[in-house]
Amino acid sequence: MKLSGKVAVITGGTKGIGLGIAEEFLREGAAVVIGGRSPETGARGEAYLRSLGGEAAYIPCDVAKLEDLDRIIAAAAERFGRLDIYVANAGINDPQKTHYLDITPEQYDRIMDVNLRGMFFGGQYAARQMVKEGHGGAIINMSSVNAYLALDSQMVYTTSKGGVQQLTKVQAVALASHGIKVNAMAPGPIETDLMRRVGSDRQLMDTILSRTPLGRIGTPKECGRLAVFLACEDSDFIFGQSIYNDGGRSFQAFPNPGYKTVTDEDYEKLRQMQEL
Ligand code: NAP
Repeated sequence: MKLSGKVAVITGGTKGIGLGIAEEFLREGAAVVIGGRSPETGARGEAYLRSLGGEAAYIPCDVAKLEDLDRIIAAAAERFGRLDIYVANAGINDPQKTHYLDITPEQYDRIMDVNLRGMFFGGQYAARQMVKEGHGGAIINMSSVNAYLALDSQMVYTTSKGGVQQLTKVQAVALASHGIKVNAMAPGPIETDLMRRVGSDRQLMDTILSRTPLGRIGTPKECGRLAVFLACEDSDFIFGQSIYNDGGRSFQAFPNPGYKTVTDEDYEKLRQMQEL
């Protein structure tokens, strides 16, 4: 097992990609603390993880609130005795797809407070705890292909993810001397509620899949396996990087020549994906 004896905090770990990461950490021997705002979703996530036989705890945490970030770090250290891994995963997009000319400061702040400010200070609090404990650690930030691809219908989201890429580099430099490794993963479309909201637009789904060389969306488990790699010693010389786990979506210029349309079967599967 690659993470035996380690303790991990995963923000937004109650469902979707975050829960997929928590599950893979657990399977590799880590104790996991998952954060999120909804107590119902949190309790469901915690029960699911415990049913796998590992040590897991849900702590309510809205990453837009600095006191919540402080609390989840303290709770992890208190409950499991240490903190080794911090995954800044919580993130939101803008379902309204507002045009740049109409975006309000309130819309901007709502997304930035979660996706970038929460990540900045959550990482700081986690790093302070790791430095206090004196054993180093790993921080993994959740970026997106939209750190690279310009998506004007999700302008604040895209801006925030661009910021994540640069934050990851400066955190890595700032924390290197403390033995804290910082990297990001930048997924393409992944089977989650967030993607289901986007994917309910069949034409948009077609546009995305036609420019994804692998021709499919990814899974939370695949993100979890990458997170295990970034958290364990196998990646110890990888530093300040954003790893694009996107089926090639970030670099394909033109649609796949053979691509026709998302099949009815795949589309239906996407629409009916159930929450855990
Ligand atoms: P999701 O299925 O909507 O899950 C989001 C998780 O974050 C939930 O646990 C949610 O729980 C929590 N959350 C939302 N707002 C929060 C807040 N203010 N504070 C703390 N937790 C919060 O989303 P996902 O698709 O797994 O996305 C996770 C991350 O991956 C995001 O950063 C997203 O940008 C990134 N990403 C996703 C995709 C994709 O295709 N799905 C692609 C690229 C990047 P509560 O609502 O109960 O708080």
